[in-house]
Amino acid sequence: MATLLLLPGDGIGPEVCAEVRRVAAALVPSLVVEEAIYGGASYDAHGTPLTDEVRDRALASDAVLMGAVGGPKWADAPRHLRPEAGLLNLRKAMNVYANLRPAYCFEALAGASSLKTELVSGLDIMFVRELVGGVYFGEPRGIDVLPDGQKKGYDTALYTTSEIERAGRVAFELARGRKNKVHSAEKSNVMESGLLWKQVITELHKREYPDVELEHILADNCAMQLVRAPKQFDVIVTDNLFGDILSDAAAMLTGSLGMLPSAAIGDPNKPGLYEPIHGSAPDIAGKGLANPLAAILSFEMALRWSLKEVEAADRLLAAVKGALDSGARTRDLGGELSTVQMGDAVLCRI
Ligand code: ATP
Ligand code: MG
Repeated sequence: MATLLLLPGDGIGPEVCAEVRRVAAALVPSLVVEEAIYGGASYDAHGTPLTDEVRDRALASDAVLMGAVGGPKWADAPRHLRPEAGLLNLRKAMNVYANLRPAYCFEALAGASSLKTELVSGLDIMFVRELVGGVYFGEPRGIDVLPDGQKKGYDTALYTTSEIERAGRVAFELARGRKNKVHSAEKSNVMESGLLWKQVITELHKREYPDVELEHILADNCAMQLVRAPKQFDVIVTDNLFGDILSDAAAMLTGSLGMLPSAAIGDPNKPGLYEPIHGSAPDIAGKGLANPLAAILSFEMALRWSLKEVEAADRLLAAVKGALDSGARTRDLGGELSTVQMGDAVLCRI
């Protein structure tokens, strides 16, 4: 029997995860849903945001779904013990190297985009962001004092062939089940790591995925095209830094933070890590105002990618669409529904 480990975390995390629990029970009764303490809550209880025990339980499960971590309460905790450090450590431990971030526009919300409705209606982009390498992890890095008393801060943008290949493979595989088109975004004109990125993706494409349409695009041009004509994209594969920025920008084409899920996956036989892209939202925590759809859609991704329950995932997506089509809106979407009422709107359609 498959196991889902829920890590509700802090702020609105427990509120939105409670709705995931209800949806999971109705949709896949055989799924074992466990829960563990994580993030600031774990720091308060155990002095660390991620205990070894919880890390091991995550690695032993079939999928992990997190709510959110962090908040002003832990802002002064030592850097390596902050709730966010627990997240980076968990990603590393699970070796989830590809971050899937859909920028998908629900028809019922197309009018709420910052772009004209016709530019986003039908929009469906999948980002594949490399998640455990690049400038966020490359060595050397640091802040040094120079002889003249100035300081220098520096990082290293570093990728190996195999790191690029495995991210590229995820993108090409995904494209085959979609519109069969991959854009690979880098800055090969000014960066050596970007040049290698382009070369490796070109080779991989020629060798294993000649049937998929591939276009190389400079990351700055990609940013421009995303706000000019986003519907030209299907799958975009890019490095850790550009992926962070481009996927955030694209996400906002489609509506509220409260709508947007993400998946971090690696080895297909290991558990994936799923989480809404929003944070712990301390300003609305505990008030029953949070939109649970980002967490529910993260569960939808877990069903699809880790739990291999594709039919249940399709049903859940249809239920969310149905709820939105019928006008169900939490406050972030301009409505009045509470977290639980939005959960009800989805549940009654399952
Ligand atoms: P983090 O640093 O953890 O990413 P953040 O500063 O980016 O956090 P969030 O916690 O994501 O911020 O919140 C940003 C704003 O969006 C807040 O005003 C918050 O109330 C709102 N928000 C975030 N998530 C939701 C949600 N699920 N439903 C409704 N509003 C939300
Ligand atoms: Mg944020």
